[in-house]
Amino acid sequence: MAGEHLDVVIVGAGLSGIGAAYRLQTEHPGRSYAILEARESMGGTWDLFRYPGIRSDSDMFTLGYPFKPWRDAKSIADGPSILRYIRETADEYGIEQRIRYGAKVVEAEWSSADARWTVTVAQGGERRTLTCNFLYCCAGYYDYDEGHAPDFPGAESFSGRLVYPQFWPEDLDYAGKRVVVIGSGATAVTLVPAMAEQAELVTMLQRSPTWISAVPGRDKYADRIRELLPPKLAHRLIRTKNILFNVGFYQYCRRRPEAARKLLTGLTTRILKDERLVAEHFTPAYNPWDQRLCAVPDADFFKAMRKGKAEVVTDHIETFVPEGIRLKSGRVLKADVVVSATGLKLLAFGGVALTVDGAPVDLSEQYVWQGAMLTGVPNFAVCIGYTNASWTLRADLTSRLVCKVLAHMDRRGHRAVVPEPRGHLEDRPLLDLAAGYIQRSIGDFPRQGDRHPWRVRQNYLLDSATTMRTSLDKTLRPVRRPANLERV
Ligand SMILES: Cc1cc2nc3c(=O)[nH]c(=O)nc-3n(C[C@H](O)[C@H](O)[C@H](O)COP(=O)(O)OP(=O)(O)OC[C@H]3O[C@@H](n4cnc5c(N)ncnc54)[C@H](O)[C@@H]3O)c2cc1C
Repeated sequence: MAGEHLDVVIVGAGLSGIGAAYRLQTEHPGRSYAILEARESMGGTWDLFRYPGIRSDSDMFTLGYPFKPWRDAKSIADGPSILRYIRETADEYGIEQRIRYGAKVVEAEWSSADARWTVTVAQGGERRTLTCNFLYCCAGYYDYDEGHAPDFPGAESFSGRLVYPQFWPEDLDYAGKRVVVIGSGATAVTLVPAMAEQAELVTMLQRSPTWISAVPGRDKYADRIRELLPPKLAHRLIRTKNILFNVGFYQYCRRRPEAARKLLTGLTTRILKDERLVAEHFTPAYNPWDQRLCAVPDADFFKAMRKGKAEVVTDHIETFVPEGIRLKSGRVLKADVVVSATGLKLLAFGGVALTVDGAPVDLSEQYVWQGAMLTGVPNFAVCIGYTNASWTLRADLTSRLVCKVLAHMDRRGHRAVVPEPRGHLEDRPLLDLAAGYIQRSIGDFPRQGDRHPWRVRQNYLLDSATTMRTSLDKTLRPVRRPANLERV
């Protein structure tokens, strides 16, 4: 690796990094590239998380790639099936051999004089460097090494096991035991029915309710379309159907919050047949889609409740006690196992420390252009998916935009480009969700502006109509060699 130079370095071999590699090698077959992956395997999220029941809550026709049909029966898929799909894609398109495992990118220094990045990689206890013209960060949005671990009062006195979904202990035996899952997000609602299959009782302990909606695990329209049409065409059609439905439903929730509240509570009441239960535990104070809506395939979460294998408690933790958790109400939840499913620790750009011409980049001072490139950071892009829809919809658009930027640089003869706004931009946080784990660290991320193309819109239809048509000449400023080097 030492002394090596590549046209493009992709950081991360998760769902996004593999998709980025496909786009890059398809649209720029002549460019050299490698994927640097910190872990010893590909798949990112879908390889790391091993807790019971791990699954997507988006449909796989949109969470999957547009170029690779999803063929499994289930539309909402389990983690191992998603991992298999990512591996299959990497294998089918010859991407696997481009991945360098155990290669954690720790630093990247941009030099305007050389128009290249020097990338420092921690690998096998050593630090090496390589250079590249363009750095594309597909490192996800959270810390792989550390989860979010709240300081629970009295946790040390608890005589059972306290576990974290990100680091699930393989030997954890919870059969016939009492389990408390703290949290009410996607991970908690996945864990509850999965653990309820073996546990005596699983209690989901939430501070406040989350919007949860039952969705079909299998999509019968998709099944019919797949019976009738060839795989690629069927995939495209089902994808379009799901995109339209999801964008429509999101817009409905945002524009008619009262009607959306009624719809969701009505749906849950129909399943649980208990209005008081729904009012107390499943009717949040915030409106649907102020935070990510949790989907539960085939209502498995509610079914576990109806069977008496799961319950929801809305209360606050006073302290852990040896036998479980004492709540502010005075009630003690007995537990042999407590799972802390309270969210992730966000980490911007895989923790890569960026410097530009010797000066460290303060990410919180930069704006994101098209949700992809940063002000002040030349020849750099980041892949961030949607928070209100399948991640890959935006991730794939971003990878196509990166390919367009590279082609633009070729055409114009630019060695380096950086996005620059015209006029003043009003600040907005990059991830516009009220979820606690996002609010905890959003200050470490770059910002978005108040208008297109500096606004990260949560609308695939608008983005897909405009992203690839955007005029690059208007925003991408060529980066020249510093004046003192002009004559060298
Ligand atoms: C439990 C869970 C369920 C989810 N379910 C959904 C869902 O249903 N729908 C949805 O749209 N989204 C979901 N998400 C979000 C999910 O992360 C994305 O859908 C998607 O998997 C992100 O892919 P990615 O490749 O961008 O990031 P990741 O999957 O996080 O992969 C990033 C990769 O980059 C590597 N990396 C990070 N830093 C470095 C570095 N410095 N150097 C080298 N390599 C590095 C990591 O090791 C990893 O392999 C879920 C997330 C979680 C945690």
